[in-house]
Amino acid sequence: MARAISPCIFCQIAGSSNSTPLLHSDDKVVAFKDINPSAFRHYLVVPVEHIPTVNDLQRRNEDYTLVSHMINVGETLLRRDAPQPNQYRFGFHQPPFNSVDHLHLHCFALPFIPRWKQ
Ligand code: 5GP
Ligand code: ZN
Repeated sequence: MARAISPCIFCQIAGSSNSTPLLHSDDKVVAFKDINPSAFRHYLVVPVEHIPTVNDLQRRNEDYTLVSHMINVGETLLRRDAPQPNQYRFGFHQPPFNSVDHLHLHCFALPFIPRWKQ
């Protein structure tokens, strides 16, 4: 029987059932460009496993290892692509300040793109 397609957009991207090009892929994480960049380069690193948010991480070795790996992958990409050395930032948005409920690390190469709301 065919497997149901996950409704989660990041599960679809991680599972390559979506046309988003991957910048990095291994058995634990994938990385790709944010569709609506907030910086000169804006990448997302997401676990292949569907973990909803940072609030679902636990104080256990497995999760420390996963988060370290996400940061390492993001840092490797930004070291390659940032226009100036060390001009990059990382961040997780914690609910309710996130919009996609699949854990993702924002990886920014500066400068940020200013956005003003009137
Ligand atoms: P959050 O606010 O949840 O921390 O950030 C979610 C990010 O995912 C946003 O920066 C948004 O632009 C990005 N995003 C949402 N949907 C898609 C998508 O379908 N493809 C890509 N590449 N990025 C997405
Ligand atoms: Zn997912």
